[in-house]
Amino acid sequence: MSIIGKIRVSLQKTRQNFQNRLNGLLSRYGSLNEDLLEELEDILIGADIGVSTTMELIDALKQRSRELKPKTDQDIMNILQEEIEKIMGISSVEDTISETVDAGLKVILVVGVNGVGKTTSIAKLARYYQNQGRKVMLAAGDTFRAAAIDQLKIWGERLQIPVISHQGGGDPGAVVFDSVQAALARHMDILIIDTAGRLHTKVNLMEELKKIKRVVSREVEGAPQQVLLVLDATTGQNGIAQARLFNDAVQVTGIILTKLDGTAKGGIVVAIKHTLDIPIEFIGTGETMEDLTPFDAREFAQSLFRQ
Ligand code: GDP
Repeated sequence: MSIIGKIRVSLQKTRQNFQNRLNGLLSRYGSLNEDLLEELEDILIGADIGVSTTMELIDALKQRSRELKPKTDQDIMNILQEEIEKIMGISSVEDTISETVDAGLKVILVVGVNGVGKTTSIAKLARYYQNQGRKVMLAAGDTFRAAAIDQLKIWGERLQIPVISHQGGGDPGAVVFDSVQAALARHMDILIIDTAGRLHTKVNLMEELKKIKRVVSREVEGAPQQVLLVLDATTGQNGIAQARLFNDAVQVTGIILTKLDGTAKGGIVVAIKHTLDIPIEFIGTGETMEDLTPFDAREFAQSLFRQ
C-alpha cells in the first residue's frame, strides 16, 4: 500500500468518529450558532485535538464563516480541514527521504516511555532504511531491562542486522560508545540506539539519556542527527506531557506516533504540532515490520474529513 493509502487506513476510526458526529450538525442546529460551536468543540476535544488547539480552530471557523457562510456540514469540514492544514504546515515526506542520503554515519537516538511501541518502532525503522539499501546497526541502550536486550536481538536476527549489546544491568553509556565504534569500523550508514523508558525514575532516566547523547556527539561530529521520541497515539494528552519532558532533556527532533490504527483520537497529531511544534516523522499503522509510514500532513488533514 502507498504512504497515502496507509495514512488513510490508519485514520479510519478517527475519521468515522468525526464524520458520524459532524454529519447533520447544521440541520440539527439550523445555523452556525453558539450551540453548534459548543458541540463542535466537544467533538474536536473528544478526538484529542487538545483544548487550546480546539479553541483556535473554533475561532478561525467563526471568523471565516462570516464571509464564507457555510451552508452544509461539508462546508464546515472544508474550513476545518484548511485550518488544520495551516497548523500542520506542509508535508515533511520529502525532507525525511532526502536527509537519509547524507554521507557518513547517521545516528538516530530513540527515546520514549516503556510500552509505547519503542522496540517495535526501532525494528520497523531499521527495516525502512534497509529497504532503501542502507546498512543499519542497532544498539541495545536499554540495559535496565534484560527482556529489552533480548527483544532487540530477536529483531536483529530476523532482519539480519547486527545488534551491539552488553549484559543486562551494564552502563548504557558504555554500550553506546561500543556501538558507535563498531558502526564506524564496519562502515554502517545508520546506527539506531534503543534507550530505557522507565518513567518512575524520571530524573535518573533523563540524566542517563543526556549522557548517552553526550557520548554519541563526542564520537561523531553532528550526531545524533535525529532524536526520535516514540509516542503512543492512544494515550492522548498524556503524550504531550511526555514529549515536553523528553524534549527538555534531549531536544527531540521528531516523533514516531504509534498505534494510530487503534484509536479514534488521531487528533493528537494536531495537538502535538500546535503545542510543541515538533514534527511527526513517522506513524505506526500496525504490528508488522512494514507498518511504519512517513507522515504526510496534507494527507492527514484530508483523511480526517473525506471518505
Ligand atoms: P516498548 O515497551 O515501548 O518497547 O513496546 P513494544 O515495542 O514492545 O510494543 C508494545 C506493543 O505495542 C506490542 O504488542 C506491539 O506489537 C504494539 N505496537 C507497536 N507499534 C504499534 C502500532 O503502530 N500499531 C499497533 N496496532 N500496535 C503496535
